[in-house]
Amino acid sequence: MRVSIPHMGNIYVPFKAMFLRLGVDFVMAPISNQRTLSVGARHSPEGLCIPFKMTLGNLIEAAEQGADTLLMPGGYGICRLGYYTRVQEQVLRNLGYDVQVIQMGVSERKFLGILDLIRKVSGNAPLHRILSAFRFGLAKLRAIDRIERLVQKVRPVELVKGTANQLYSRAVSAIDKTDDYASLKRVTAEYLQHLEHVPRDEHAEPLIVGVTGEFYVLLEPFSSFDIEQELGRLGVEVRRSTFVSDWTKFSFFLNPFGINEKSRIHRAARPYLKRDIGGDGWESVGEKVLHATEYDGLVHLAPFTCMPEIIAQNIMPSTREKIPVLTILCDEQIGKAGVLTRLEAFVDLLERKRRASGGRRRAVVA
Ligand code: SF4
Repeated sequence: MRVSIPHMGNIYVPFKAMFLRLGVDFVMAPISNQRTLSVGARHSPEGLCIPFKMTLGNLIEAAEQGADTLLMPGGYGICRLGYYTRVQEQVLRNLGYDVQVIQMGVSERKFLGILDLIRKVSGNAPLHRILSAFRFGLAKLRAIDRIERLVQKVRPVELVKGTANQLYSRAVSAIDKTDDYASLKRVTAEYLQHLEHVPRDEHAEPLIVGVTGEFYVLLEPFSSFDIEQELGRLGVEVRRSTFVSDWTKFSFFLNPFGINEKSRIHRAARPYLKRDIGGDGWESVGEKVLHATEYDGLVHLAPFTCMPEIIAQNIMPSTREKIPVLTILCDEQIGKAGVLTRLEAFVDLLERKRRASGGRRRAVVA
């Protein structure tokens, strides 16, 4: 059994660590790139969203490298993601690949779902080994997210543009190579320290821009035109509330006990949208309302044809809480150059707005 998963940011790092510890033959597809998107889009049914196309591209590239067991996230929610596994398996078979696409049952069965999945692909490894491998994968995930949070703060104020990005990619690769807790701890501390010492403009008061929208495009930079890096380059500090380590903590361990991290966001959205509409549409509206006084602006990432985000996009202009919102549709038909022009114009608008208000920074909540 040769196992692979589609990419979504750095999610491959914990999976690779976990499978390596369990002796599972893990095939890593190339990091998402233009070819991935082109291949995925070419073989996708018309009208599907970029998460479908990108993950299909990843699965095809993994199959090209010999993977025969492909793990695909799925959901039981209102969006069509729940159907993707079967459709993608059919597409792969039509292309001549003898593969099995397994839906990760994490939405329905949470922690038990992922344990069951790991047990199957590891050929019934004992529970203690599965738990130990899972714990190590989680530790890597937390380390990467910790570093990324700091990178978001350094990017806008660094004196030499690109330093934080370089450190970040070196940190991810160093974390990927660690094989015990001691080296993971050392590498994480090392890179956190490097980032703390990046020479920065001490007088800068960067604009604060929230990035919200659909889960996949928020976390897969290639699918959303590297928007966070580009905002950092323009001197903007990005705030994003979605991190995979947080999602894992709540979804696997706390949600089953009734602790819902999204309750606050849902409450904020309720005057305008009363219920879940699938995907992350409810949360997108709530984030705008909740952070209207903290952020200078909001970038809303919406996959083209994604109904939940289309609904959110249409509700946002009518909220009482006013804050400039730039919705960016993510799709293979949209060119990065055009997106960057819009982003620059948006940042320009926010700067003028801040100057007009006396240069005051928004109330910042860490
Ligand atoms: S939420 Fe939207 S973009 Fe995400 S899988 Fe569902 S339809 Fe596609």
